[in-house]
Amino acid sequence: MNNKELIQKIADEDIEYVDIRFTDPRGKLQHVTVIKDEVDEDFLDEGFMFDGSSIAGWKSIDQSDMKLMPDASSAYIDPFYAEKTICVHCTVHEPDTGERYDRDPRATARNAEEYLKSTGIGDTAFFGPEAEFFLFDNVKYSTAMNKVSYEVDAVDASWNTDAEFEMGNMGHRPGIKGGYFPVNPVDDAQDLRAEMLSTMKRIGMKVDKHHHEVASCQHELGMIFSTLVDQADNLQKYKYVIHNVAHAYGKSATFMPKPISGDNGTGMHVNMSIWKDGKPIFAGDKYADLSDEALFFIGGILKHAKALNAFTNPSTNSYKRLIPGFEAPVLRAYSARNRSGCVRIPWAESPKAKRVEARFPDPSANPYLCFAALLMAGIDGIKNKIHPGEAMDKDLYDLPPEELADIPTVCASLREAMEELEKDMDFLLAGDVFTKSQIEGYMDLKWEEIYAYEHCPHPMEFKMYYSC
Ligand code: GLN
Ligand code: MG
Ligand code: MG
Ligand code: MG
Repeated sequence: MNNKELIQKIADEDIEYVDIRFTDPRGKLQHVTVIKDEVDEDFLDEGFMFDGSSIAGWKSIDQSDMKLMPDASSAYIDPFYAEKTICVHCTVHEPDTGERYDRDPRATARNAEEYLKSTGIGDTAFFGPEAEFFLFDNVKYSTAMNKVSYEVDAVDASWNTDAEFEMGNMGHRPGIKGGYFPVNPVDDAQDLRAEMLSTMKRIGMKVDKHHHEVASCQHELGMIFSTLVDQADNLQKYKYVIHNVAHAYGKSATFMPKPISGDNGTGMHVNMSIWKDGKPIFAGDKYADLSDEALFFIGGILKHAKALNAFTNPSTNSYKRLIPGFEAPVLRAYSARNRSGCVRIPWAESPKAKRVEARFPDPSANPYLCFAALLMAGIDGIKNKIHPGEAMDKDLYDLPPEELADIPTVCASLREAMEELEKDMDFLLAGDVFTKSQIEGYMDLKWEEIYAYEHCPHPMEFKMYYSC
């Protein structure tokens, strides 16, 4: 849809409001609502002025004017508002020069798409994120919180822990690691997930499936792959729909990476491929039917994984997920078969479906920055022919210590991720896709979170040290 068609749609469908949406550096969708009488082609061409100083990590108060430029191709009817409203995602621009604002994540994502083209490596990168989430209602939420305190003993997680018995009969409820695919009533969120998926379809998203996930109360919905900016927009819609359908049912959804100790965390595997002139460039005759380009792409991802963590795993909670034993990766290794490394090559029916799956990202990430950073690492790998080494086709959780010693890992904390990003950011600055000032501003925000977290006494510390 272009601007003209958007104006036509507003008139034809009696739409009353236009909701202008954009994403802040931490990844939260923001919005302002404009009555339709104000929205004409000039409005869409000229953009909407707003106060950029109110968004954490953006402008200072003395230079706060910024412009939101609506992207009509992202428009969708809001499925929750009582008044008929069309939503449009925007990029942020400087009001005087009209250039994209370097700290706007959506602008960075657009830069990354353009940079890929400029390298000649390919013209299109496709992204297929698999964002998991937990659904809690009041009872389950308090159960989850109880688990946090019960399981600090690091009990070996199984469904009949003492904690469950102490809480009485849990009825038809998936226990820890007991809930992957059983039908209802163990899976008690079928209707909720179906309503989420249908709502996504209604607003024009391409979706394919939904299912319960491995952890108790954990779920995943499937989106069909798309291009970088479009898919980051879709992920914002995905979260918006999930949060609001859950809310309508009196439940809450969370994308935090590790809400329950002793059970699987919440990942966001990111499947990626690059195409050139209508042909997939990742299919070939090397390991797992990959091309050299695909192997080098993996090499770039593994090489820069620690700096990438700053964008792919950007919460202090992210690092409670990246531990052995819960289908989340720790080691910077790749394989076609096992799911314990950072990169997996999913089996593909045809060369068109050949893709690389990064398994370390989680959905606390800002999708625009996460996808752009992954693509930049992969491009760096291809440009510099970074070979990823031999594939590791064994269970990496069970490796003996002497073998483990040689395999590099992902970061163990957000603090480490910031330190690594500081040392390794040149691959992001190529082609001015990210800027140094943008990364510094982002790091300032993340250091605030690190200090807030590190300076706060933790319940576990009370348990371990209170009576010392
Ligand atoms: N929840 C796992 C993770 O943290 C993934 C499990 C799966 O999708 N099979 O990445
Ligand atoms: Mg999946
Ligand atoms: Mg999953
Ligand atoms: Mg997956």
